[in-house]
Amino acid sequence: MALTDITSSEVIRAIEEFDLLGRERFLRMYEFGRARRYLLAHEGRFYDSKAIVGTAHGYLPGQSPLTAKDFSGGERHAVGLLRRLGFTVVDDPGSSRAQQAPQDHLLDRLAGLKVNRASGRPALYQPIALLWATGRARRGERRLLPWGETEQALRDLLERHGMRGERPRPDYPVSALHHAGLWVLHDHSGPVPKAHGDAALRRWFAENQPLSGVPEPVYDLLRRSGEARVAVIDALLCTYFNGLDYGPLLMDVGLYDEAVADDADADSTDADADSTDGGARDTGVPHAVVVAAQYERWCRIVEHRESENRGRRTTRASTNPIRSGSARRAVLLRSEGRCENPRCTGQPADVTASGAPILEVDHVMDLAQGGRDHPSHMVALCPNCHAIKTRGRTREELRATLLDVARENHARWSNPQGG
Ligand SMILES: [Zn+2]
Repeated sequence: MALTDITSSEVIRAIEEFDLLGRERFLRMYEFGRARRYLLAHEGRFYDSKAIVGTAHGYLPGQSPLTAKDFSGGERHAVGLLRRLGFTVVDDPGSSRAQQAPQDHLLDRLAGLKVNRASGRPALYQPIALLWATGRARRGERRLLPWGETEQALRDLLERHGMRGERPRPDYPVSALHHAGLWVLHDHSGPVPKAHGDAALRRWFAENQPLSGVPEPVYDLLRRSGEARVAVIDALLCTYFNGLDYGPLLMDVGLYDEAVADDADADSTDADADSTDGGARDTGVPHAVVVAAQYERWCRIVEHRESENRGRRTTRASTNPIRSGSARRAVLLRSEGRCENPRCTGQPADVTASGAPILEVDHVMDLAQGGRDHPSHMVALCPNCHAIKTRGRTREELRATLLDVARENHARWSNPQGG
């Protein structure tokens, strides 16, 4: 047997077979386990790298597929081979996890992005490019764009919102995201250069003029799922923009109303009407079940973010803690449009311009004073109750009540059966 005889055409045939059978059947058929860390990234999908190489071997004339014990899957063998053939292999220690939801998979990828750091801060090239693509997907705009358009749009954004000292070079994030399996490039010849250096990289993009954008599965997820968008925005903001004023960037990419969770901003409660999946009505699943599941999903996103943040928080005290859009959405969903203060004397009967109840989401304890950005520590209040809580004589008493309310309502929604 000779692994080195395998070319990209056998690998592609193995990938096609994987797609056809699905991961589980493919692995069972060729007797491989799930990859423990190395995944082959191809056109936005991920494949167990060793199983692909073993199967590809069977496509060589007169050869049969190799099984797991026939060769090593590590960097020196299967992974090295795939990389030499120009494929992207990502190192993903969590990849053997059972049946990940596409959204969690995407979030894991975002958490694993490799970005440059300058004076302790991560570079913003890749997060800015991803937020731009997220905004485009949200609006249903074309996934793949000619290089000229991508370059222009990203250059403008990087000029306005990049870190000081970062050059507005769209080829950096596009190349880096491509090598992380999060950006596809079409219509080019030869491998895509790594996101280093200067003239060679620039020249490659100028000469090839690739058509590019996020991979189709990523685009589809961001297009159809508001929940996924909020999760992605949350993940990017909390990882890369901590302490920065990200509002103008979100405005520019068309994600402001979806992401910003400002206690004082009642108008941005709007985008929530679409949140409980119209599809549920078709399947006959009771509304309350769908809503409870949605609540739980948002809480999971919030908790995922909290765990990502742990340990990071100590690096830099932030005067502008980033709040979770998911936490805010969960609280509004839970409130069912009513002020959560049990002693509320009357919520305004009016609604916002888009028909949403007039409610403000409040952190019962200030984040700056150690409060949690989590639905169990947040309430939806009408403007009257919010004012009492902020500057009323009885505010301390109310705060204690609201902490109990937040905890109880959260517990009830997290566990609707009460068991
Ligand atoms: Zn009230």
